[in-house]
Amino acid sequence: MPALIHDLAEKLFIDGDWRRGEGERIPVENPATGEVLGHIAAATPAEIDAAVAAARKAFRIWSRLAPAERAKALRRLGDAITTEADAMARTMTQEQGKPLNEARGEILKLAEACHFYAEEAVRIHGEIVPNTTTDIDSLVVREPIGVVGAITPWNYPAELIGWKLCGALAAGCTIVIKPAELTPFTALAIARMAEKAKIPAGVVNVLTGPGAKVGQALVEHPGVDKIAFTGSSAVGLRIQQSCPTIKRLSLELGGNCPLIVTASADLDAAVKGAVRRSFRNMGQICIAINRIYVARPIAAEFVKRLCEAADKLVIANGIDKPDADVGAMASAEPLAKTKEHLADALAKGAKLVAGGGAPRGEAFARGHFFRPTVVSDCTHAMKVMTEETFGPLVGVMAFDGLDEAIELANDTPYGLASYVYAKDMDEIRYLSGRLDYGNVAVNNVDAGIMNAPYGGRKQSGVGYEHGREGMLEYLNFKHVRIRYDEPKG
Ligand code: NAD
Repeated sequence: MPALIHDLAEKLFIDGDWRRGEGERIPVENPATGEVLGHIAAATPAEIDAAVAAARKAFRIWSRLAPAERAKALRRLGDAITTEADAMARTMTQEQGKPLNEARGEILKLAEACHFYAEEAVRIHGEIVPNTTTDIDSLVVREPIGVVGAITPWNYPAELIGWKLCGALAAGCTIVIKPAELTPFTALAIARMAEKAKIPAGVVNVLTGPGAKVGQALVEHPGVDKIAFTGSSAVGLRIQQSCPTIKRLSLELGGNCPLIVTASADLDAAVKGAVRRSFRNMGQICIAINRIYVARPIAAEFVKRLCEAADKLVIANGIDKPDADVGAMASAEPLAKTKEHLADALAKGAKLVAGGGAPRGEAFARGHFFRPTVVSDCTHAMKVMTEETFGPLVGVMAFDGLDEAIELANDTPYGLASYVYAKDMDEIRYLSGRLDYGNVAVNNVDAGIMNAPYGGRKQSGVGYEHGREGMLEYLNFKHVRIRYDEPKG
Protein backbone atom coordinates (compact mmCIF):
# COMPACT_ATOMS: atom_id res chain seq x y z
CA MET A 1 0.00 0.00 0.00
CA PRO A 2 1.48 3.44 -0.91
CA ALA A 3 2.83 5.43 2.06
CA LEU A 4 0.34 8.31 2.25
CA ILE A 5 -2.63 6.01 1.65
CA HIS A 6 -1.35 3.58 4.28
CA ASP A 7 -1.31 6.44 6.74
CA LEU A 8 -4.85 7.57 5.94
CA ALA A 9 -6.64 4.24 5.50
CA GLU A 10 -9.68 3.66 7.74
CA LYS A 11 -9.29 7.12 9.29
CA LEU A 12 -11.70 10.02 9.74
CA PHE A 13 -10.58 13.57 10.53
CA ILE A 14 -12.80 14.99 13.26
CA ASP A 15 -12.07 17.94 15.53
CA GLY A 16 -8.39 17.98 14.58
CA ASP A 17 -8.02 14.29 15.47
CA TRP A 18 -7.34 11.25 13.31
CA ARG A 19 -9.89 8.71 14.47
CA ARG A 20 -9.95 5.11 13.39
CA GLY A 21 -13.46 4.89 11.94
CA GLU A 22 -15.84 2.45 13.58
CA GLY A 23 -18.06 1.78 10.58
CA GLU A 24 -18.09 -0.68 7.71
CA ARG A 25 -14.86 -1.05 5.69
CA ILE A 26 -15.08 -0.20 1.97
CA PRO A 27 -12.24 -1.07 -0.43
CA VAL A 28 -10.77 1.61 -2.70
CA GLU A 29 -9.31 0.32 -5.98
CA ASN A 30 -6.68 1.58 -8.38
CA PRO A 31 -8.71 1.83 -11.62
CA ALA A 32 -5.62 1.27 -13.78
CA THR A 33 -4.74 -2.09 -12.19
CA GLY A 34 -7.70 -3.31 -10.15
CA GLU A 35 -5.43 -3.51 -7.07
CA VAL A 36 -7.04 -2.65 -3.72
CA LEU A 37 -5.23 0.42 -2.43
CA GLY A 38 -6.72 0.33 1.04
CA HIS A 39 -10.02 0.59 2.86
CA ILE A 40 -12.04 3.49 4.15
CA ALA A 41 -14.42 3.44 7.08
CA ALA A 42 -18.03 4.50 6.47
CA ALA A 43 -18.72 7.18 9.08
CA THR A 44 -21.32 6.10 11.63
CA PRO A 45 -24.17 8.37 12.82
CA ALA A 46 -22.21 9.06 16.04
CA GLU A 47 -19.12 10.06 14.05
CA ILE A 48 -21.20 12.31 11.79
CA ASP A 49 -22.68 14.00 14.87
CA ALA A 50 -19.19 14.41 16.34
CA ALA A 51 -17.88 16.07 13.15
CA VAL A 52 -20.82 18.47 12.92
CA ALA A 53 -20.56 19.31 16.65
CA ALA A 54 -16.82 19.98 16.23
CA ALA A 55 -17.51 22.25 13.26
CA ARG A 56 -20.19 24.14 15.23
CA LYS A 57 -17.87 24.62 18.17
CA ALA A 58 -15.01 25.76 15.94
CA PHE A 59 -17.35 28.15 14.07
CA ARG A 60 -17.70 30.30 17.19
CA ILE A 61 -13.96 30.99 17.17
CA TRP A 62 -13.15 30.86 13.44
CA SER A 63 -15.96 33.22 12.44
CA ARG A 64 -14.76 35.84 14.96
CA LEU A 65 -11.10 35.64 13.96
CA ALA A 66 -9.71 38.71 12.21
CA PRO A 67 -9.99 38.14 8.45
CA ALA A 68 -6.23 38.68 8.16
CA GLU A 69 -5.71 35.68 10.46
CA ARG A 70 -7.97 33.51 8.32
CA ALA A 71 -6.01 34.70 5.28
CA LYS A 72 -2.73 33.69 6.91
CA ALA A 73 -4.12 30.23 7.67
CA LEU A 74 -5.24 29.80 4.05
CA ARG A 75 -1.78 30.84 2.83
CA ARG A 76 -0.17 28.28 5.14
CA LEU A 77 -2.55 25.66 3.75
CA GLY A 78 -1.62 26.61 0.16
CA ASP A 79 2.08 26.38 1.04
CA ALA A 80 1.70 22.99 2.73
CA ILE A 81 -0.15 21.64 -0.31
CA THR A 82 2.50 22.98 -2.69
CA THR A 83 5.26 21.33 -0.63
CA GLU A 84 3.47 17.98 -0.62
CA ALA A 85 2.19 18.21 -4.21
CA ASP A 86 4.09 15.13 -5.43
CA ALA A 87 2.81 12.79 -2.72
CA MET A 88 -0.73 14.13 -3.04
CA ALA A 89 -0.66 13.75 -6.83
CA ARG A 90 0.49 10.11 -6.54
CA THR A 91 -2.39 9.44 -4.18
CA MET A 92 -4.83 10.99 -6.64
CA THR A 93 -3.49 9.10 -9.67
CA GLN A 94 -3.61 5.83 -7.78
CA GLU A 95 -7.25 6.19 -6.79
CA GLN A 96 -8.62 8.18 -9.75
CA GLY A 97 -6.58 7.08 -12.78
CA LYS A 98 -5.55 10.41 -14.34
CA PRO A 99 -1.88 10.76 -15.38
CA LEU A 100 0.49 11.92 -12.66
CA ASN A 101 1.41 15.26 -14.29
CA GLU A 102 -2.27 16.12 -14.65
CA ALA A 103 -2.91 15.15 -11.02
CA ARG A 104 0.02 17.34 -9.93
CA GLY A 105 -1.46 20.22 -11.94
CA GLU A 106 -4.75 19.77 -10.11
CA ILE A 107 -3.05 19.79 -6.70
CA LEU A 108 -1.28 23.03 -7.62
CA LYS A 109 -4.65 24.51 -8.65
CA LEU A 110 -5.91 23.63 -5.17
CA ALA A 111 -2.95 25.53 -3.71
CA GLU A 112 -3.79 28.44 -6.04
CA ALA A 113 -7.36 28.45 -4.68
CA CYS A 114 -6.00 28.72 -1.12
CA HIS A 115 -3.92 31.76 -2.07
CA PHE A 116 -6.73 33.35 -4.10
CA TYR A 117 -9.24 33.10 -1.25
CA ALA A 118 -6.63 34.28 1.26
CA GLU A 119 -6.67 37.55 -0.70
CA GLU A 120 -10.49 37.61 -0.80
CA ALA A 121 -10.83 36.95 2.96
CA VAL A 122 -9.63 40.46 3.79
CA ARG A 123 -11.94 42.11 1.27
CA ILE A 124 -15.26 41.12 2.82
CA HIS A 125 -17.05 44.36 3.55
CA GLY A 126 -20.53 45.80 3.80
CA GLU A 127 -21.99 49.20 3.03
CA ILE A 128 -24.06 51.98 4.53
CA VAL A 129 -27.18 52.59 2.44
CA PRO A 130 -29.30 55.78 2.31
CA ASN A 131 -32.21 56.23 4.73
CA THR A 132 -35.29 58.44 4.97
CA THR A 133 -33.79 60.65 7.66
CA THR A 134 -30.23 61.52 8.55
CA ASP A 135 -30.44 60.31 12.16
CA ILE A 136 -30.56 56.69 10.97
CA ASP A 137 -27.78 54.50 9.63
CA SER A 138 -28.61 51.35 7.71
CA LEU A 139 -25.57 49.11 7.78
CA VAL A 140 -25.56 46.17 5.41
CA VAL A 141 -23.02 43.74 6.80
CA ARG A 142 -22.00 40.25 5.74
CA GLU A 143 -21.74 37.34 8.13
CA PRO A 144 -20.61 33.75 7.59
CA ILE A 145 -23.44 31.26 7.16
CA GLY A 146 -22.14 28.69 9.66
CA VAL A 147 -21.32 25.02 9.21
CA VAL A 148 -20.99 23.83 5.61
CA GLY A 149 -21.46 20.24 4.46
CA ALA A 150 -19.38 19.76 1.29
CA ILE A 151 -20.24 16.73 -0.85
CA THR A 152 -17.96 16.12 -3.82
CA PRO A 153 -17.47 13.75 -6.80
CA TRP A 154 -14.46 11.75 -7.96
CA ASN A 155 -13.46 13.39 -11.24
CA TYR A 156 -11.56 16.33 -9.69
CA PRO A 157 -10.95 15.00 -6.19
CA ALA A 158 -8.85 17.99 -5.03
CA GLU A 159 -10.13 21.06 -6.90
CA LEU A 160 -13.81 20.42 -6.23
CA ILE A 161 -13.11 20.19 -2.51
CA GLY A 162 -10.75 23.17 -2.70
CA TRP A 163 -13.23 25.68 -4.10
CA LYS A 164 -15.69 24.89 -1.32
CA LEU A 165 -13.11 24.63 1.43
CA CYS A 166 -11.33 27.88 0.54
CA GLY A 167 -14.47 29.93 -0.13
CA ALA A 168 -16.03 28.71 3.12
CA LEU A 169 -12.95 29.23 5.29
CA ALA A 170 -12.27 32.69 3.86
CA ALA A 171 -15.85 33.70 4.66
CA GLY A 172 -15.52 32.47 8.26
CA CYS A 173 -17.46 29.21 7.91
CA THR A 174 -16.31 25.79 9.09
CA ILE A 175 -16.70 22.64 7.01
CA VAL A 176 -17.44 18.92 7.06
CA ILE A 177 -16.30 17.30 3.81
CA LYS A 178 -17.80 14.07 2.41
CA PRO A 179 -15.71 13.05 -0.62
CA ALA A 180 -16.70 10.50 -3.27
CA GLU A 181 -16.28 6.85 -2.35
CA LEU A 182 -13.83 6.35 -5.26
CA THR A 183 -11.42 9.13 -4.22
CA PRO A 184 -11.42 9.47 -0.42
CA PHE A 185 -7.65 9.46 0.09
CA THR A 186 -7.08 12.76 -1.73
CA ALA A 187 -9.64 14.34 0.62
CA LEU A 188 -7.97 12.85 3.69
CA ALA A 189 -4.61 14.09 2.35
CA ILE A 190 -6.11 17.60 2.19
CA ALA A 191 -7.13 17.22 5.86
CA ARG A 192 -3.55 16.21 6.62
CA MET A 193 -2.40 19.47 5.01
CA ALA A 194 -4.93 21.44 7.08
CA GLU A 195 -3.40 19.85 10.16
CA LYS A 196 0.13 20.74 8.96
CA ALA A 197 -1.01 24.30 8.29
CA LYS A 198 -2.28 24.51 11.87
CA ILE A 199 -5.85 25.28 10.88
CA PRO A 200 -7.62 25.16 14.28
CA ALA A 201 -9.28 21.89 15.32
CA GLY A 202 -12.84 21.44 14.06
CA VAL A 203 -12.58 24.02 11.26
CA VAL A 204 -11.97 21.26 8.67
CA ASN A 205 -13.42 17.75 9.12
CA VAL A 206 -13.48 14.84 6.68
CA LEU A 207 -15.97 11.96 6.82
CA THR A 208 -15.75 9.08 4.35
CA GLY A 209 -18.45 6.66 3.26
CA PRO A 210 -21.39 6.15 0.89
CA GLY A 211 -23.30 9.17 -0.34
CA ALA A 212 -26.72 7.70 0.38
CA LYS A 213 -25.78 7.33 4.06
CA VAL A 214 -23.06 9.80 5.03
CA GLY A 215 -23.82 12.49 2.43
CA GLN A 216 -27.55 12.23 3.04
CA ALA A 217 -26.99 12.44 6.81
CA LEU A 218 -25.19 15.77 6.31
CA VAL A 219 -28.06 17.02 4.14
CA GLU A 220 -30.55 16.11 6.88
CA HIS A 221 -28.41 17.21 9.83
CA PRO A 222 -29.91 20.15 11.76
CA GLY A 223 -26.40 21.31 12.66
CA VAL A 224 -25.41 21.87 8.99
CA ASP A 225 -26.41 25.32 7.70
CA LYS A 226 -25.45 24.95 4.06
CA ILE A 227 -24.79 22.15 1.60
CA ALA A 228 -22.23 22.78 -1.13
CA PHE A 229 -22.62 19.92 -3.58
CA THR A 230 -20.92 18.96 -6.82
CA GLY A 231 -22.13 15.85 -8.60
CA SER A 232 -24.85 14.51 -10.85
CA SER A 233 -28.10 16.39 -11.48
CA ALA A 234 -30.06 13.36 -10.20
CA VAL A 235 -28.37 13.45 -6.79
CA GLY A 236 -28.49 17.27 -6.73
CA LEU A 237 -32.25 17.16 -7.20
CA ARG A 238 -32.57 14.53 -4.51
CA ILE A 239 -30.60 16.72 -2.12
CA GLN A 240 -32.78 19.73 -2.93
CA GLN A 241 -35.94 17.71 -2.35
CA SER A 242 -34.78 15.94 0.80
CA CYS A 243 -33.58 18.88 2.92
CA PRO A 244 -35.84 18.53 5.97
CA THR A 245 -35.39 22.19 6.92
CA ILE A 246 -34.61 25.33 4.92
CA LYS A 247 -30.92 25.24 4.09
CA ARG A 248 -28.69 27.25 1.81
CA LEU A 249 -27.70 25.10 -1.17
CA SER A 250 -25.21 25.44 -3.95
CA LEU A 251 -25.44 22.75 -6.58
CA GLU A 252 -22.80 22.29 -9.30
CA LEU A 253 -24.32 19.56 -11.44
CA GLY A 254 -24.04 17.72 -14.72
CA GLY A 255 -23.40 19.09 -18.19
CA ASN A 256 -23.88 18.15 -21.83
CA CYS A 257 -21.61 20.71 -23.39
CA PRO A 258 -21.66 21.72 -27.08
CA LEU A 259 -18.89 23.04 -29.31
CA ILE A 260 -19.84 25.07 -32.38
CA VAL A 261 -17.21 25.35 -35.13
CA THR A 262 -18.13 27.90 -37.79
CA ALA A 263 -16.77 28.17 -41.32
CA SER A 264 -14.56 31.12 -40.26
CA ALA A 265 -12.77 29.09 -37.53
CA ASP A 266 -9.07 28.35 -37.39
CA LEU A 267 -9.50 24.63 -38.00
CA ASP A 268 -6.25 23.50 -36.36
CA ALA A 269 -7.05 25.48 -33.21
CA ALA A 270 -10.60 24.09 -33.17
CA VAL A 271 -9.34 20.51 -33.46
CA LYS A 272 -6.78 21.06 -30.72
CA GLY A 273 -9.43 22.54 -28.42
CA ALA A 274 -11.94 19.80 -29.23
CA VAL A 275 -9.46 17.02 -28.47
CA ARG A 276 -8.36 18.60 -25.22
CA ARG A 277 -11.85 19.29 -23.88
CA SER A 278 -13.43 16.04 -25.12
CA PHE A 279 -10.79 13.62 -23.88
CA ARG A 280 -8.85 15.17 -21.00
CA ASN A 281 -9.46 13.17 -17.82
CA MET A 282 -11.02 10.59 -20.17
CA GLY A 283 -13.96 12.91 -20.77
CA GLN A 284 -14.96 12.62 -17.11
CA ILE A 285 -15.43 16.37 -16.78
CA CYS A 286 -18.69 18.21 -16.24
CA ILE A 287 -17.52 20.80 -18.80
CA ALA A 288 -16.28 18.19 -21.30
CA ILE A 289 -17.28 18.73 -24.93
CA ASN A 290 -19.89 16.00 -25.51
CA ARG A 291 -21.13 17.09 -28.92
CA ILE A 292 -19.72 19.10 -31.80
CA TYR A 293 -21.68 21.06 -34.42
CA VAL A 294 -19.57 21.95 -37.48
CA ALA A 295 -20.50 24.17 -40.43
CA ARG A 296 -21.30 21.79 -43.29
CA PRO A 297 -18.68 23.06 -45.80
CA ILE A 298 -15.81 22.26 -43.37
CA ALA A 299 -17.35 19.25 -41.59
CA ALA A 300 -15.54 16.46 -43.48
CA GLU A 301 -12.12 18.10 -43.10
CA PHE A 302 -12.76 18.85 -39.40
CA VAL A 303 -13.75 15.24 -38.67
CA LYS A 304 -10.68 13.91 -40.52
CA ARG A 305 -8.31 16.10 -38.50
CA LEU A 306 -10.17 15.43 -35.23
CA CYS A 307 -9.80 11.67 -35.71
CA GLU A 308 -6.09 11.97 -36.57
CA ALA A 309 -5.52 13.96 -33.38
CA ALA A 310 -7.63 11.61 -31.22
CA ASP A 311 -5.76 8.58 -32.55
CA LYS A 312 -2.43 10.15 -31.55
CA LEU A 313 -3.34 10.53 -27.86
CA VAL A 314 -1.10 8.43 -25.61
CA ILE A 315 -3.04 6.20 -23.18
CA ALA A 316 -1.22 4.70 -20.20
CA ASN A 317 -1.24 3.88 -16.53
CA GLY A 318 -0.71 7.41 -15.19
CA ILE A 319 1.87 6.32 -12.62
CA ASP A 320 4.06 4.50 -15.17
CA LYS A 321 3.82 7.33 -17.70
CA PRO A 322 3.27 10.63 -15.89
CA ASP A 323 3.03 12.66 -19.11
CA ALA A 324 0.49 10.39 -20.85
CA ASP A 325 -2.40 12.26 -22.46
CA VAL A 326 -5.02 10.06 -20.83
CA GLY A 327 -5.10 7.36 -18.15
CA ALA A 328 -7.68 4.90 -16.89
CA MET A 329 -11.32 5.78 -16.34
CA ALA A 330 -12.17 6.06 -12.65
CA SER A 331 -14.35 2.94 -12.43
CA ALA A 332 -16.39 0.38 -14.36
CA GLU A 333 -19.50 2.60 -14.22
CA PRO A 334 -18.48 5.50 -16.52
CA LEU A 335 -16.84 2.97 -18.84
CA ALA A 336 -20.10 1.02 -19.14
CA LYS A 337 -22.05 4.24 -19.83
CA THR A 338 -19.56 5.23 -22.55
CA LYS A 339 -20.02 1.85 -24.24
CA GLU A 340 -23.79 2.14 -23.92
CA HIS A 341 -23.85 5.59 -25.55
CA LEU A 342 -21.54 4.39 -28.33
CA ALA A 343 -23.72 1.35 -29.06
CA ASP A 344 -26.84 3.53 -29.05
CA ALA A 345 -25.29 5.99 -31.53
CA LEU A 346 -24.11 3.23 -33.89
CA ALA A 347 -27.48 1.48 -33.75
CA LYS A 348 -29.15 4.75 -34.78
CA GLY A 349 -26.90 5.36 -37.78
CA ALA A 350 -23.79 7.19 -36.51
CA LYS A 351 -20.41 6.32 -38.04
CA LEU A 352 -17.52 5.23 -35.85
CA VAL A 353 -14.56 7.28 -37.09
CA ALA A 354 -11.99 6.99 -34.25
CA GLY A 355 -11.42 4.69 -31.28
CA GLY A 356 -14.32 2.50 -30.29
CA GLY A 357 -12.78 0.00 -27.88
CA ALA A 358 -10.11 -0.73 -25.29
CA PRO A 359 -6.44 -0.27 -26.22
CA ARG A 360 -4.59 -3.54 -26.81
CA GLY A 361 -1.82 -4.83 -24.56
CA GLU A 362 -1.07 -6.48 -21.24
CA ALA A 363 -0.73 -3.06 -19.53
CA PHE A 364 -4.44 -2.43 -20.09
CA ALA A 365 -5.76 -5.88 -19.23
CA ARG A 366 -7.02 -5.21 -15.71
CA GLY A 367 -7.83 -1.49 -15.79
CA HIS A 368 -10.78 0.56 -17.05
CA PHE A 369 -9.27 1.81 -20.31
CA PHE A 370 -11.03 2.99 -23.47
CA ARG A 371 -9.67 4.70 -26.58
CA PRO A 372 -10.75 8.27 -27.28
CA THR A 373 -13.73 7.78 -29.59
CA VAL A 374 -15.40 9.93 -32.22
CA VAL A 375 -18.72 9.25 -33.95
CA SER A 376 -19.92 11.34 -36.90
CA ASP A 377 -23.26 11.77 -38.71
CA CYS A 378 -25.03 12.06 -35.38
CA THR A 379 -28.60 13.23 -34.69
CA HIS A 380 -30.45 14.32 -31.59
CA ALA A 381 -32.13 10.93 -31.43
CA MET A 382 -28.83 9.63 -30.01
CA LYS A 383 -27.87 9.65 -26.33
CA VAL A 384 -24.37 10.86 -27.18
CA MET A 385 -25.90 14.18 -28.30
CA THR A 386 -28.53 14.60 -25.59
CA GLU A 387 -27.22 13.00 -22.39
CA GLU A 388 -24.03 13.44 -20.40
CA THR A 389 -21.73 10.54 -21.33
CA PHE A 390 -18.94 11.39 -18.86
CA GLY A 391 -16.48 9.34 -20.88
CA PRO A 392 -14.08 9.58 -23.86
CA LEU A 393 -16.78 9.76 -26.52
CA VAL A 394 -17.79 12.74 -28.66
CA GLY A 395 -20.46 13.02 -31.36
CA VAL A 396 -20.24 15.26 -34.44
CA MET A 397 -23.05 16.72 -36.53
CA ALA A 398 -23.04 19.21 -39.45
CA PHE A 399 -25.13 22.40 -39.37
CA ASP A 400 -26.36 24.70 -42.14
CA GLY A 401 -26.71 28.10 -40.46
CA LEU A 402 -25.88 29.81 -37.15
CA ASP A 403 -29.48 29.71 -35.96
CA GLU A 404 -29.61 25.96 -36.47
CA ALA A 405 -26.34 25.61 -34.54
CA ILE A 406 -27.73 27.65 -31.63
CA GLU A 407 -30.99 25.71 -31.60
CA LEU A 408 -29.12 22.39 -31.48
CA ALA A 409 -26.64 23.62 -28.87
CA ASN A 410 -29.44 24.87 -26.58
CA ASP A 411 -31.56 21.75 -27.09
CA THR A 412 -30.70 20.26 -23.68
CA PRO A 413 -31.88 20.49 -20.08
CA TYR A 414 -28.30 21.40 -19.10
CA GLY A 415 -26.61 24.80 -19.12
CA LEU A 416 -23.08 24.49 -17.78
CA ALA A 417 -20.47 25.27 -20.46
CA SER A 418 -20.40 25.82 -24.20
CA TYR A 419 -17.62 26.44 -26.70
CA VAL A 420 -17.25 28.30 -29.98
CA TYR A 421 -14.46 28.38 -32.53
CA ALA A 422 -14.91 31.26 -35.00
CA LYS A 423 -12.79 34.11 -36.34
CA ASP A 424 -15.63 36.32 -37.57
CA MET A 425 -16.44 38.86 -34.81
CA ASP A 426 -20.09 39.11 -35.79
CA GLU A 427 -20.45 35.35 -35.47
CA ILE A 428 -18.72 35.37 -32.09
CA ARG A 429 -21.05 38.07 -30.77
CA TYR A 430 -24.16 36.41 -32.17
CA LEU A 431 -23.34 32.97 -30.79
CA SER A 432 -22.01 33.97 -27.36
CA GLY A 433 -25.08 36.15 -26.78
CA ARG A 434 -27.50 33.33 -27.56
CA LEU A 435 -25.91 30.29 -25.94
CA ASP A 436 -27.95 29.55 -22.79
CA TYR A 437 -25.02 28.52 -20.61
CA GLY A 438 -23.27 29.79 -17.49
CA ASN A 439 -19.93 29.67 -19.30
CA VAL A 440 -19.07 30.34 -22.95
CA ALA A 441 -15.45 29.90 -24.10
CA VAL A 442 -14.58 31.30 -27.53
CA ASN A 443 -11.44 30.15 -29.34
CA ASN A 444 -10.28 28.43 -26.15
CA VAL A 445 -11.61 25.64 -23.97
CA ASP A 446 -10.91 26.89 -20.46
CA ALA A 447 -14.42 27.61 -19.30
CA GLY A 448 -13.45 28.00 -15.64
CA ILE A 449 -10.71 30.28 -14.30
CA MET A 450 -10.05 31.25 -10.69
CA ASN A 451 -10.98 34.94 -11.08
CA ALA A 452 -14.41 34.55 -12.68
CA PRO A 453 -17.64 33.04 -11.32
CA TYR A 454 -18.27 29.53 -12.55
CA GLY A 455 -21.71 27.94 -12.39
CA GLY A 456 -24.47 26.30 -14.37
CA ARG A 457 -28.01 27.11 -15.44
CA LYS A 458 -31.12 24.95 -15.77
CA GLN A 459 -30.42 21.36 -14.61
CA SER A 460 -26.69 22.18 -14.28
CA GLY A 461 -27.25 23.81 -10.94
CA VAL A 462 -27.52 26.92 -8.81
CA GLY A 463 -24.80 29.05 -7.26
CA TYR A 464 -21.22 29.81 -8.18
CA GLU A 465 -17.70 28.71 -7.40
CA HIS A 466 -14.48 30.56 -8.25
CA GLY A 467 -13.99 34.28 -8.02
CA ARG A 468 -15.35 36.61 -5.39
CA GLU A 469 -18.82 35.17 -6.07
CA GLY A 470 -17.54 31.77 -4.91
CA MET A 471 -16.94 33.22 -1.45
CA LEU A 472 -20.20 35.19 -1.34
CA GLU A 473 -22.00 31.82 -1.44
CA TYR A 474 -20.83 31.35 2.16
CA LEU A 475 -21.99 34.73 3.48
CA ASN A 476 -25.34 36.07 4.65
CA PHE A 477 -26.37 39.71 4.51
CA LYS A 478 -27.52 41.37 7.71
CA HIS A 479 -29.24 44.75 7.77
CA VAL A 480 -28.51 46.68 10.98
CA ARG A 481 -30.68 49.83 11.19
CA ILE A 482 -29.58 52.22 13.92
CA ARG A 483 -31.46 55.36 15.01
CA TYR A 484 -29.37 57.96 16.84
CA ASP A 485 -30.57 60.72 19.15
CA GLU A 486 -29.04 64.20 19.10
CA PRO A 487 -26.64 64.32 22.08
CA LYS A 488 -28.04 66.58 24.81
CA GLY A 489 -26.13 69.71 25.83
P1 NAD B 1 -22.77 11.62 -7.83
O1 NAD B 1 -23.88 12.60 -7.87
O2 NAD B 1 -23.08 10.19 -7.98
O3 NAD B 1 -21.97 11.75 -6.45
C1 NAD B 1 -21.44 12.97 -5.99
C2 NAD B 1 -21.30 12.92 -4.48
O4 NAD B 1 -22.60 12.82 -3.90
C3 NAD B 1 -20.52 11.73 -3.95
O5 NAD B 1 -19.72 12.13 -2.86
C4 NAD B 1 -21.61 10.78 -3.50
O6 NAD B 1 -21.18 9.90 -2.48
C5 NAD B 1 -22.63 11.76 -2.96
N1 NAD B 1 -24.01 11.25 -2.89
C6 NAD B 1 -24.60 10.28 -3.62
N2 NAD B 1 -25.88 10.10 -3.23
C7 NAD B 1 -26.12 11.02 -2.26
C8 NAD B 1 -27.26 11.36 -1.47
N3 NAD B 1 -28.42 10.72 -1.61
N4 NAD B 1 -27.14 12.38 -0.59
C9 NAD B 1 -25.99 13.04 -0.44
N5 NAD B 1 -24.87 12.75 -1.14
C10 NAD B 1 -24.93 11.76 -2.04
O7 NAD B 1 -21.73 12.12 -8.94
P2 NAD B 1 -20.38 11.44 -9.40
O8 NAD B 1 -20.68 10.23 -10.21
O9 NAD B 1 -19.46 11.29 -8.23
O10 NAD B 1 -19.77 12.60 -10.33
C11 NAD B 1 -20.12 12.77 -11.65
C12 NAD B 1 -21.14 13.87 -11.82
O11 NAD B 1 -20.68 15.08 -11.23
C13 NAD B 1 -21.39 14.20 -13.28
O12 NAD B 1 -22.76 14.34 -13.52
C14 NAD B 1 -20.69 15.55 -13.46
O13 NAD B 1 -21.19 16.34 -14.49
C15 NAD B 1 -20.88 16.17 -12.13
N6 NAD B 1 -19.88 17.22 -11.91
C16 NAD B 1 -20.28 18.54 -11.97
C17 NAD B 1 -19.35 19.56 -11.81
C18 NAD B 1 -19.75 21.02 -11.87
O14 NAD B 1 -18.92 21.86 -11.54
N7 NAD B 1 -20.95 21.36 -12.30
C19 NAD B 1 -18.01 19.23 -11.60
C20 NAD B 1 -17.64 17.89 -11.56
C21 NAD B 1 -18.59 16.89 -11.71
